Amino acid sequence: MRSISIFGATGSIGQTTLDVIAQQSDDFQIQVLTGNGNVELLAEQTRRFQPNTVVIADETKHAQLEKLLSGMDIVIQSGRDAILDAARVDVDWVMSAVVGFAGFEISLIAAQHCKTLALANKESLVCGGPLLRAACAKYETNLLPVDSEHSAILQCLNGEELETVERVIITASGGPFREFTLDQMRDVNASQAAAHPNWSMGQRISIDSASMFNKAMEVIEAKELFDLSNDQIEVLIHPQSIIHSIVGFNDGNMVAQMGPANMAGAIGYALNWPNRAPLDQQRLTAKELVSLEFNELDDTRFPAVALARRAIDMGGLSGAVFNAAKEQALDLFLAQRIGFLDMAALVERALDHYMLSEWSQDMTLANIQFADEKTREFVQNSITKDVA
Ligand code: NAD
Ligand code: MG
Repeated sequence: MRSISIFGATGSIGQTTLDVIAQQSDDFQIQVLTGNGNVELLAEQTRRFQPNTVVIADETKHAQLEKLLSGMDIVIQSGRDAILDAARVDVDWVMSAVVGFAGFEISLIAAQHCKTLALANKESLVCGGPLLRAACAKYETNLLPVDSEHSAILQCLNGEELETVERVIITASGGPFREFTLDQMRDVNASQAAAHPNWSMGQRISIDSASMFNKAMEVIEAKELFDLSNDQIEVLIHPQSIIHSIVGFNDGNMVAQMGPANMAGAIGYALNWPNRAPLDQQRLTAKELVSLEFNELDDTRFPAVALARRAIDMGGLSGAVFNAAKEQALDLFLAQRIGFLDMAALVERALDHYMLSEWSQDMTLANIQFADEKTREFVQNSITKDVA
């Protein structure tokens, strides 16, 4: 019997994780489920999966959650501190699937208390990859990616030493604006940007996919997970989203991983690693493989990946700055304060600003939180100034 906690259970990844677990329900006991806004869904999941503890981040929903779960013998908590406390519960396997920087500290704490950390929250690696990896090394925690591209790399490696890897190619569908001109992208709105052609995901990552900021984050994620340098990571546009990544080894052989465009495969792999277990999900047919297309990434229309590469070269806390600027710019785009293309311009400005800063470069949680806060302020202020 394995004990499991899921942070961000009500989200796209959280729901798929529970679906995958439900197929193997004899083997698992859920310890913790957390959510933020969707109290009805969290209550429904709690009734179905019977965790020991359920936590809702939004404290204003506490009473409603208690009411929905009245009569159940479980611990019901709310608020940020309660979520962090729940990450301190010792378990076998944790899914870190809260969206955004809010997930970073959860991952970091969980890394000290679980045997295996399944990481969907890529922001954790972008903001503080070395810190998270050090925690995993110290506490002998397995760190497994739950991003399709990085799960693909892990599957291609299949236990091979990292020294044998010469390069990786991560694919990107190109999103809904793959064939748009810059002019066409200028005026797109949030619902157009969130309408991903292949993947069904949360709103924020869907818009990040349209702007290629998701792929930009994934380049940093690949660097952190697999000890790669900037020029060992290539990005290739592949509109069908069937090949998720390709690994090139030092003997010239290349291995690619394929799978349906959903997260069940990556989640199932992280759940059963280093083994595989049967999973009832979509299967690719040979017909779907008949025409696989690949194109180069156009950095002019999609500058996000080049910005991530710049952040990698800058080092220090630039990952945290990159992520905070991207998150704040996305908030501004969602609030219709800025246009779609302004997001990349703001991230670039935030990196310029960081170059001039005299912040401590030590990678500590406090310094990362400081960089996050200061960068959000900087992005917000630069917009207020522009408007004034
Ligand atoms: P989502 O928006 O669907 O779900 C986010 C979850 O986090 C929800 O449970 C929500 O209640 C919770 N949450 C939001 N803000 C919170 C806060 N401040 N405190 C505590 N909980 C909070 O997002 P998603 O698409 O499931 O993505 C989750 C993470 O997984 C992201 O980091 C994303 O980049 C990554 N990821 C997602 C996919 C995908 O297919 N959806 C693929 C790869 C990686
Ligand atoms: Mg991905």
